[in-house]
Amino acid sequence: MKLIGSGSVAAALSKKEANAQETVAKAARGMPSPKIQDIQVIATAPAGLRLVVVKVITDQPGLYGYGCGTFTQRADLVVPAVEKYLKPLLIGRPADRIDDTWQMCYNSSYWRNGPVLNNAISGVDQALWDIKGRQCGVPVYQLLGGKVREAADCYGHASGSEIPEVIESARAYMAKGFRHVRVQIGVSGMAGYGSRGAAAKVEALHNDPVYEPAVYIRKALKMFEACRTQLGEEIELCHDVHERVTTTQALQFCKDVEKFKLFFFEDPLSPEDIQWFRLIRQQCTTPIAMGELFNSPHEWNPLIAERLIDYIRVHVSQAGGLTPCRKMAILGELFGVRTAWHGPGDVSPVGHAANVALDLVSYNFGVQEYSEFNAASQEVFQGCPVMKNGFLFANEAPGWGIEVNETLAEKYPFTGGVNPRSQNSERNKLNGGWGVIRRRDGAVIKQ
Ligand SMILES: [Mg+2]
Repeated sequence: MKLIGSGSVAAALSKKEANAQETVAKAARGMPSPKIQDIQVIATAPAGLRLVVVKVITDQPGLYGYGCGTFTQRADLVVPAVEKYLKPLLIGRPADRIDDTWQMCYNSSYWRNGPVLNNAISGVDQALWDIKGRQCGVPVYQLLGGKVREAADCYGHASGSEIPEVIESARAYMAKGFRHVRVQIGVSGMAGYGSRGAAAKVEALHNDPVYEPAVYIRKALKMFEACRTQLGEEIELCHDVHERVTTTQALQFCKDVEKFKLFFFEDPLSPEDIQWFRLIRQQCTTPIAMGELFNSPHEWNPLIAERLIDYIRVHVSQAGGLTPCRKMAILGELFGVRTAWHGPGDVSPVGHAANVALDLVSYNFGVQEYSEFNAASQEVFQGCPVMKNGFLFANEAPGWGIEVNETLAEKYPFTGGVNPRSQNSERNKLNGGWGVIRRRDGAVIKQ
């Protein structure tokens, strides 16, 4: 049987094909399994936002990888989680057993599914995918089965203090070729999400920033009306409520925006109130996006399996990296839920590259959030994904295709910040944290 088998294979192949196969087999044969020799953490803020990137170095010269572990509001805590706990666990282990390594890291703390530990695991996980891509000489998306699309259709962040500014901002994205924009409006004297508020603060019983959900909802509805009237029907509109309204307000809001035919309506509810999604589903057809705050399968599994949301918005490093999110994307495909991975400025370019890899290989991709890489970020992270006409293209170099200039990264330490929530010196003392926003009466609201 063996002779017959080999004979028929030889007959089926031309000499040229057989030679080519032999060359490939020789190149790959006996390729030693790389071992993890060292793990380092790069903490840098080239755009003012605190980014944490993990570098896994193998025992093979020049073979290493980078992974995003950015939890910008508590960035300093991810560093020791990697250095003091994951590094001793992983030194000397094979670098090519990615899921096995993920399971080891995930289970070794016993208590799990928290943002600090998940981001630490993500840094290692994404670095191992980078290493495997570099070892094989292919981009990571090839390791995941290859492209089902050429590039990721993205949405940009249009915003303004008043409606005309929002319209102008959206038009600027449309002029650049974007087919999707997220529109956010400020509320006079209040701390609106995704937009600068007016300087004079409304009267309140405290000195912190003020936010009143009902005032915001009324203004946002006027904004959607103006967007549809002035921007037309072709542009796909997204909006982020940022879990800032009550549950009943959320339900009514979802019904009220139904007529504007949004592409998606994000985080109308907080993760603590996810059971309310059933009521939204029963009462309107507004497409719902949810999940950037999720840490755990206990949160996303029921929403996907019960088909209660339309877009899963998970922050890939927050969920533990590429490995769990690839599984999540496939779960979503089986239940008709599309992906819209979180892509703000507090995801490192390595994390954005991981998002794009998932976008390219997932049939159920919906849209990708896009944040422009500033000049300093592109110098530190060489090989960022490239934006053209609203599409984000992967770097075609092996792995993520990104090389980190570590010397330059050191020139952007965690000081100050351009995040509007931490821009003034009073907020800087919060070390990247977001401070507090209150209703007029002083009650703290979710951010
Ligand atoms: Mg959001």
